[in-house]
Amino acid sequence: MTETSVPVSCPGTESEQAGRAAACYGCPNQTACAAGKNTTVDPDRVAIANRLAGVQRVLFVVANKGGCGKSSVAAQLAFAFASGVACEAVDRELEVGLLDADVTGPSIPHLLSIAEEEVHQSATGWQPVYVRGNLAAMSIGFMLPSKDDAVAWRGARKTGLLKQFLRDVDWGDYLDWLIIDMPPGTSDEHITLTQALAGIANTAALIVATPQEVALLDVRKQVRFCERAGVPIVGIVENMSYYTCRHCGHQEEIFTPTTGGVQALCNDSGVRFLGRIPLDPALMRASDLGEAILNYDCPARDAIFELARHIGKAFSPKTIASLEVESS
Ligand code: SF4
Repeated sequence: MTETSVPVSCPGTESEQAGRAAACYGCPNQTACAAGKNTTVDPDRVAIANRLAGVQRVLFVVANKGGCGKSSVAAQLAFAFASGVACEAVDRELEVGLLDADVTGPSIPHLLSIAEEEVHQSATGWQPVYVRGNLAAMSIGFMLPSKDDAVAWRGARKTGLLKQFLRDVDWGDYLDWLIIDMPPGTSDEHITLTQALAGIANTAALIVATPQEVALLDVRKQVRFCERAGVPIVGIVENMSYYTCRHCGHQEEIFTPTTGGVQALCNDSGVRFLGRIPLDPALMRASDLGEAILNYDCPARDAIFELARHIGKAFSPKTIASLEVESS
């Protein structure tokens, strides 16, 4: 737990129970809170920790560049986790939330085929949009008058909205997975989200990359960012890795790696390589229609399935602890 992190059931640093509630015992802020002198804990952090108390795992899906298929991977992972087929440990469908943190380029509503839906306010907060009973999403895309409207906001307004998403969206009492589709890069939004979720157990990042060297330069920056932000990296997946000819079966590397691609980068940096997702017309079609690739019979289906299984296995508390050691 970092110095400014708080237990999920924190009563609030400004409440009468601050420093005295059951949750306060063992909290590093207890003395200051009991004395009414805790000025180190952001009240938003407390509200966010309480709001997300029922979230079992948080997965940041990140990439340092746009156009590498990050949002499609995030959406397909959400479908895969929600279907339950990617998880060996449980025999039920999982509760999944997908938060679209790409404020200026929201694509999750389209990728889940819920672009025409709207967000509703209730007494318990903003209600996310449900794709089905156990898969919900939140995005600024639901709030725009038209899907062609551009969001041209400065940093403070974007980070304010993201904090509001974390604080005010009512995901229900329990979520197996909260997947956060991050905007490309390592800017204000990344700092806001990683800081706001610091101290929440079972949080890690998946990096999506394409194999050409110019993309890998940026992936190395993303690895460094996660290390500095204290976010364990569950691994890197290589997207658009190759194309398989549907007639003769020949595999062609469209973005031919000149320095060994993602696997070599993983070997050098000590981050896990989580496999390759091919350029597959079926995946593009599924993304365009907002459907799960698991319903298609194609190479991308197997790749997404394996990726979801790898991530599911890696998210045991013990494994996340070992990732923290590896990435520090
Ligand atoms: S000691 Fe302060 S920060 Fe810690 S749980 Fe109690 S009120 Fe929250």
